[in-house]
Order: sequence, then C-alpha cells, then structure tokens
Amino acid sequence: MSGPVIAPGATLGVMGGGQLGAMFATAAKRMGYRVEAISDVADCPAVHHCDRVHVLAYDDAAGLAAAARGLDIVTFEFENVPVAAARALADVVPVRPAADVLFTTQDRGREKAFLVRHGFPCAPHRLVRSRAELATAVAALGLPAVLKTVAFGYDGKGQRKLEADAGTAAVDQAWNDLGGTAGRELVLEGWIDFDCEISVVAARGLDGATAVFAPTRNDHVRHILDVSSTPAALPEPVLAEARRVAVAVLEGLGVVGVACVEFFVTRDGRVLVNEIAPRPHNSGHLTIAACETSQFEQQVRAICGLPLGSTRPLAAAAMANLLGDCWEMAGGSPDWPAALALPGVSLMLYGKSEPRRGRKMGHLTALAGSVDEAIAKVRQARAAACRTGSRG
Ligand code: AMP
Repeated sequence: MSGPVIAPGATLGVMGGGQLGAMFATAAKRMGYRVEAISDVADCPAVHHCDRVHVLAYDDAAGLAAAARGLDIVTFEFENVPVAAARALADVVPVRPAADVLFTTQDRGREKAFLVRHGFPCAPHRLVRSRAELATAVAALGLPAVLKTVAFGYDGKGQRKLEADAGTAAVDQAWNDLGGTAGRELVLEGWIDFDCEISVVAARGLDGATAVFAPTRNDHVRHILDVSSTPAALPEPVLAEARRVAVAVLEGLGVVGVACVEFFVTRDGRVLVNEIAPRPHNSGHLTIAACETSQFEQQVRAICGLPLGSTRPLAAAAMANLLGDCWEMAGGSPDWPAALALPGVSLMLYGKSEPRRGRKMGHLTALAGSVDEAIAKVRQARAAACRTGSRG
C-alpha cells in the first residue's frame, strides 16, 4: 500500500447527499467509520444515513474548508461537483478521486479528448462552438446523430437526436434548444445503432491495484436506466474487452476510488465508451445483493487505502429502478408486500419525500439461477409494487 491507511473510526466525507452518498454512508458505517455529507440541500437521502450533513453552497469556499477540517478524506457521489469546490477541499484533506478526474469527466468535450488521446474506442464526434461548425459536423458525421451539451447532462437531459431526415430547421431548433445560440459548447455524436448498452464498475486502490465487477446489461426507458442485469448475455471476448477498457480508463485517469464506464455494444461486437462516471453507478446497485463486495464497500476500501474486496458474483441478478411514476400508477402507495413476497427480491428506498415523475425513488433487486429468471422476477416484483398488472 502507498500512503497511510485510513482505518475504521476515521471520518469520511462525501460531496453530495443523494442516494449514492446514502449507500456509501451505509457501507462505511457498517465498517466502523463516521460519515459526514456535504450537500447543498438539507432534505436529502444522506440525512438518514450520515452522522452529519453540512448544508453548504458548493461555491462557499470558507464553509467547505471548515467542514473539511473535521474530515480524514473526502470522496464524491456525483460528478457535477464544481471542480473549484473539490480543489478547495483538497487544500485541507485528501480528495479521492482527485479533482482532476472530475475536471475531465464532467465535460463531454474533455472526456472525449481523454478517450481519443488514450486510443479508447468511442462514438465518432465533433465539438461544435458555432452554428457553422455544427453544419460542418453534420456533413462529416452524417445523420442520424445526437447533439449533446458538454456539461451537466444526465439521464438524457441536454441532448437532442437529429433524425436521418433532419433539415436545416430541425438542426437550428436543436442548436437553439441546447443553448448553442447562447454560446454553450456542444458535441455532435454519430448515431450508434447499438445491439445493447453495458457498463462496467471498477475500483482502483491507492497502490494501483484494480478490481472489476462483471459487466451489466442496461436497458433504458425514456433515457433513464430502467433495468440492469448480470451476467450480460454477450460473447466472453466482448465482455473481456469491456472489462479491459474499463480498467485502462481508471488507470488512464488515475482514479483512486470507484468509477463506472458505460459502453455501447455494436452489432459487430465492438465496445464503444459512451460515458465515464467517477463514482459508483446506478447500474452497480445490484452488487449490494449480488456480489461478495458491493460497489459502495469497494469505494470505501479504495479511498481508505484498504485492500479491494472480491467482486465475485453470488448469483445472477437484475435491478429495476423505481421512479416516482410507480407511486402515481399505484394510486399513491406501492404494494411493497406483493413485491417482497417473491423469493430473492429485495427493496431499497432512498427516503425521498416527494415521488415526482422520473425521479429515482428506490430500486428492487432480484437474485436467481439465471439472468433471464432474475429479469423476469424483478419486472414481476415491480409490476406488483406499482400495481400495473404485468407491465414491469
Ligand atoms: P448519455 O446521457 O450520453 O448517456 O445518453 C443517454 C442515452 O441516450 C444512452 O444511454 C443511449 O441510449 C442514448 N444515446 C446517447 N448517445 C447516443 C449515440 N451516439 N447513439 C445512439 N444512442 C445514443
């Protein structure tokens, strides 16, 4: 190990108070750490799981420094933490992964430049800073294509598909909608007619050791992750390549912690990096029930200089997100007993008070003897909870 171990009993800080911070806190507290979150909202999921929440604006440098003085280390649970805030914290305590990792991954332009520089496969793309550059990019990449904002995009927010028959007016519209006219930098990506999407969660320790979880297959509905499942039913060489690239991405970025690499799998079996999240990921939630070490325990181990845990799967598994829509469909109160009556199904709710449409409120995980069985079971459990008959 290089660097001192941050042993149980120490106080870990997490930037952000969402469900990823809450699940990190749960894992850390089970291992005997104290956990303090730094969040810009008081009513956040981490409140129920941390020893303390510092409610601060992320640009309050003095407040951040004061909070950091009581911490032994800081990590983060979302990548849109302002880099300046991460740097202000780093003046006081170690921040892992480092602020530079945030700097690269929170901007699609910088992230893609990193991928290209290291020779990692990704979708063909062009950065566009003017309407004329967009026209050139459309001509170069062809249509269909996807126009995306470089910053603050997630769950399909900040992107527009340009259809195969998009004319000047449709391109103008997308350019305007995404803020191109207002001077926002955008990226145009060629459309990938993918076979499926997968992701790989991996960890890298202080000593450079790495551990990688089995790839999950991810199915989205309205751009939001709907169901993740593992093992992904793909040829072993495809899965091995995804694992190899994921580990190389963590090494290339110098991540100390956990990161998730999302891929498109093309119909001819290539893996293209879509996005990097330098933190645990929604698609890794099934590791809590399905692996010897969860992605959150792995985050604790990695940032604290402890040996990384085994990522061995205990069973085939599938995770289904529970959005606020479920409450609406269930007439305000989902039928949890019906979901939990199914053997091998477990429930996690994030403690969010208002079940808004599209808001991630929790998830269900199902373990089974095969991945198809796990997917069927988690869909059945969700349909039962949301009282939607067979629509899981
Ligand atoms: P992102 O926010 O970049 O992860 O995009 C959200 C989702 O939009 C992805 O998970 C894909 O389903 C879809 N998508 C994004 N970019 C592309 C692309 N270049 N080709 C095809 N689908 C895409």
